[in-house]
Amino acid sequence: MQTPVKKNQEVRVTVSDLSYEGMGVAKVDGYPLFVDNALPGEEVLIHVTKANKNYGFAFVKQFFQESPDRVAVSNRVYAQTGIAPLQHLAYPAQLKFKHNQIEQLFKKSHLDIKVLPTLAAPLQTGYRNKAQIPVREINGQLETGFYRRRSHTLIPIEDYYIQDPAIDHTVLVVRDLLRQYHVPAYDEAHNTGVIRHVMVRRGYYTHQTMVVLITRTRDLPHADEIVAGIRAALPEVSSIVLNVNPDATNVILGRRSRTLYGNDYLEDELLGSTFRISATSFYQVNPRQTENLYRLAVDAAGLTGKETVIDAYSGIGTISLTMARHAKHVYGVEVVPAAVADARVNAQINGIDNVTFELGKAEDVMQTWREHGLDADVLMVDPPRKGLASEFIDAVGVMLPAKVVYVSCNPATLARDIARLQDFGYHAEETQPVDMFPQTTHVESVTVLTRN
Ligand code: SAH
Repeated sequence: MQTPVKKNQEVRVTVSDLSYEGMGVAKVDGYPLFVDNALPGEEVLIHVTKANKNYGFAFVKQFFQESPDRVAVSNRVYAQTGIAPLQHLAYPAQLKFKHNQIEQLFKKSHLDIKVLPTLAAPLQTGYRNKAQIPVREINGQLETGFYRRRSHTLIPIEDYYIQDPAIDHTVLVVRDLLRQYHVPAYDEAHNTGVIRHVMVRRGYYTHQTMVVLITRTRDLPHADEIVAGIRAALPEVSSIVLNVNPDATNVILGRRSRTLYGNDYLEDELLGSTFRISATSFYQVNPRQTENLYRLAVDAAGLTGKETVIDAYSGIGTISLTMARHAKHVYGVEVVPAAVADARVNAQINGIDNVTFELGKAEDVMQTWREHGLDADVLMVDPPRKGLASEFIDAVGVMLPAKVVYVSCNPATLARDIARLQDFGYHAEETQPVDMFPQTTHVESVTVLTRN
């Protein structure tokens, strides 16, 4: 089979679309080419770098006509690494791009749901409260940075653009200490070396900072000196944790952690409640926009104080506790043991006693609750990217809560799950996209489903 264009060929095209990964899409005789750093409407000369059977990749050699939505980019590294794949797109156009993605997916699934304009984030750069930075050796020197897109080649970075600058600074202090004490960087190809990742989380309101050093080996050489160095340079650090991940895997965190200094957790605040967060627990990365997201979800639930609520995929209990203040009782379910433990402590420290947190898979626990006759008025779901399991939806079909509030981080699985819920008589009027991740292609949204 011949492709209309070949590797290393140069061709003039008009970019027609933006892929869900933020690549320009141009078609040559119906053959799609994904073009790095190209926007819809642009006339460009492209250089083909790869021509697969059904699609190819290219970069822009020359611009003839630029998009009015293009903004100047100070550092192309962010696009090369996938840290900020939409950096070259003006913010209002980013919001529109996210809106359109949901709209197109709904259309494909024949869902007649209005998609509202995307709610803009209060901060468009420097917003992330968490970093997970790979550590590698390049030319004999330990480096921290980010992988080049679609590869595991590290590009050294000092300013991560979308992260809280205090976190960037923390990463550099740790990097310099690791260099000073000659800690061997992890070598992915051979699963050798010591330090794999540095993870940093910082409380937006509290400024408390947690540093997690992720090693392949059980121990970190010069741990005492490194801990002392971090504490001396960074007074906001309230916790230093060693996490051990011996496996040859892409998964960042290992199963075992031990605290080298300070607390086993980080504390932050959201909507006036205090939350403890363990190293391995999930916590939303854009704190100010999270408050907006939770407000929308709680408003959507329409609580009067009489309702029984299920919060599935409850993490450290942030949504559960926020809802518990306006409901009779909230049942949370979460699969990560540390997160469930955090959620229970968080209920206590906020003086909330009308919540129950269950450890397990949402799809299993939901079945058990249904068998025990738990009758929820409101079901809140905030699943990971893969969406709701079919057993979970089956249990919803028997329990039939009056309302389902769906917080989604993946519009493809959202559309799939709504279509399934429709079989049980659920129906949504509208979806509210909320931009939790400016400069990236991630699309978050809130949808309320009610039964006819
Ligand atoms: N609502 C929380 C967490 C949302 S993230 C918040 O806003 O902070 C999704 C959560 O689902 C994570 O904590 C993850 O550990 C958990 N999770 C993933 N798969 C799960 C499953 N099958 N059952 C229950 N929880 C699961």
